[in-house]
Amino acid sequence: ELTAEQLRAVLVSVADRVIAAEPELSQADREVGDGDHGLGMTRGFTAARAALAGTTFGDVHEVFTTTGNALLRSMGGASGVIFGLLFRAGAANRAAADRIGVPGLADHFARSLAQITERGGAAPGDKTMVDALEPATRALAESAAAGHDLHTALRRAAEAAADGADRTKNYLARFGKAVSLKDRSLGHPDPGALSTALIFAAMADWAG
Ligand code: ADP
Ligand code: MG
Ligand code: MG
Repeated sequence: ELTAEQLRAVLVSVADRVIAAEPELSQADREVGDGDHGLGMTRGFTAARAALAGTTFGDVHEVFTTTGNALLRSMGGASGVIFGLLFRAGAANRAAADRIGVPGLADHFARSLAQITERGGAAPGDKTMVDALEPATRALAESAAAGHDLHTALRRAAEAAADGADRTKNYLARFGKAVSLKDRSLGHPDPGALSTALIFAAMADWAG
């Protein structure tokens, strides 16, 4: 289980990892989009890191909400809503909790995925971040059912997200600028799916 302060440390390391990947995320978005994904995520996670640094947390849901709000406010646009929801939606209307374990994380990301697909309208296979998030969420649910420890659960979720992001190379886009590229987007992964895989990889690496 993670305390709220440990979850804060996890999300700070997620922020550092996403910011460090700015060149590759921008390059990925240059292949299939408008090239701004790395800058948008850097803006968002710089704001999130600042918000996380300025507060002490006792409630794990508050840590997620603070992160999501910072992304939503600073990134703007559709991707700000989507990545804001990744952290905010699963934490909405939850009783305060001073710790979170594998079942809690599984529940968080399942709720976030449900909101992202409902609000954004993307289904698996549409070449979006959903293609990384959905398998990661499924892996977390399986780990919760199997009683895996946090390290194992996050490692499996990160692998599932990375595999899911890689599979987006084979998909045609139904959202954003990549739609107009038609089959020229084949062979290139979705930038938001790459970001999502990085987020889970950073969580897994923090857990050791
Ligand atoms: P923009 O497309 O506005 O330039 P970004 O480049 O920052 O924003 O982010 C693009 C990423 O956002 C895509 O690669 C995709 O993963 C994600 N995305 C965009 N629209 C949706 C949606 N409706 N549902 C899920 N993810 C989406
Ligand atoms: Mg873009
Ligand atoms: Mg853009």
